[in-house]
Amino acid sequence: MYDAIVIGAGPAGLQAALTLGRMHRPTLLLDSGEYRNGTVRHMHNVVANDGTPPAEFRATAREQLAEYSVVEIRDVGAQTVTRSDGGFVVQLADGETAETRHVILATGVADDLPAIPGLQELWGTKAFSCPFCDGHEHAGRSIGILGPAPRAEHLIGLLGRIVADITVFPVDQPFTDDEVRTLDALGVRVSAEPVLSVAPQDDDVRITTATGAHTVAGVFVASGTMRHRAPFADQLGLQMLPSGSIEIDDFGRTSMPGVFAAGDLAHRASLPGPMASVLLAAAAGQLAAVGVIQSLTAG
Ligand SMILES: Cc1cc2nc3c(=O)[nH]c(=O)nc-3n(C[C@H](O)[C@H](O)[C@H](O)COP(=O)(O)OP(=O)(O)OC[C@H]3O[C@@H](n4cnc5c(N)ncnc54)[C@H](O)[C@@H]3O)c2cc1C
Repeated sequence: MYDAIVIGAGPAGLQAALTLGRMHRPTLLLDSGEYRNGTVRHMHNVVANDGTPPAEFRATAREQLAEYSVVEIRDVGAQTVTRSDGGFVVQLADGETAETRHVILATGVADDLPAIPGLQELWGTKAFSCPFCDGHEHAGRSIGILGPAPRAEHLIGLLGRIVADITVFPVDQPFTDDEVRTLDALGVRVSAEPVLSVAPQDDDVRITTATGAHTVAGVFVASGTMRHRAPFADQLGLQMLPSGSIEIDDFGRTSMPGVFAAGDLAHRASLPGPMASVLLAAAAGQLAAVGVIQSLTAG
């Protein structure tokens, strides 16, 4: 019986396991090897790690966790989490089961991109969604933003002062006349035709429409959506928020006693959505671990 099973070993789960290890709490950390920033070469806006490859960040975290003998790491997926007497049973993909008093869900989310040929291949290297993470690297250069218009406006507001110029491309359908007027007023170029495909071209990206090709340094996607990487919130019937994330309190507690959540898949009701960042995921992991320790030491 572990004190905690942490499902997920991105920044949230790695930090949760570190905090539990330092408090000598028997912990199992599970990792199926599917990271949100798995294709990213350099992460940014992470103090003391600005530009560090995410894979290096995870490897260093694991090396440091090896100092804590109470933390066991297994590179295996979890399939189900069910309640049992005094805790939870986690069914693993290798056929084994593990029992625990507490679970921390840190399985993150996956990005569903619009079905534009070539976009998936560029994701994380030349195609992005987060101006805080990847805007500065395009300073003084040309970028493309792939619609829809309202979310493109938001990206223009954040990126406009960083990059040299912006061309906004509709996805699927041309922009309406009203949308074109609004985008024009923001001082960006607006493509009349939807994007047909994107492809690498030397160090740039070639965006193809029905009548031509445009070369930009990178593209920002305004139309992606997120989905939970793992099914545990549904399996356990956890309280969800309008954003689609798991509702947690300040210490990562979900609506089910003993189940905590941290990282991109959860946030407090006071926030409009998950604040997707490496540091905030790690901070949430630490808070969830503290929540587990509070539960273990209470009464
Ligand atoms: C293109 C891109 C670029 C980004 N760049 C930056 C950046 O520069 N700076 C920044 O701060 N943030 C960046 N982010 C955001 C950042 O990657 C996330 O906020 C962060 O990774 C969230 O951490 P997490 O621990 O919640 O989830 P993740 O890092 O996604 O980790 C999820 C973990 O859960 C595991 N898992 C999933 N399902 C299972 C299962 N069933 N069983 C076992 N394990 C499972 C996975 O293997 C993984 O270990 C970027 C995101 C994207 C998409």
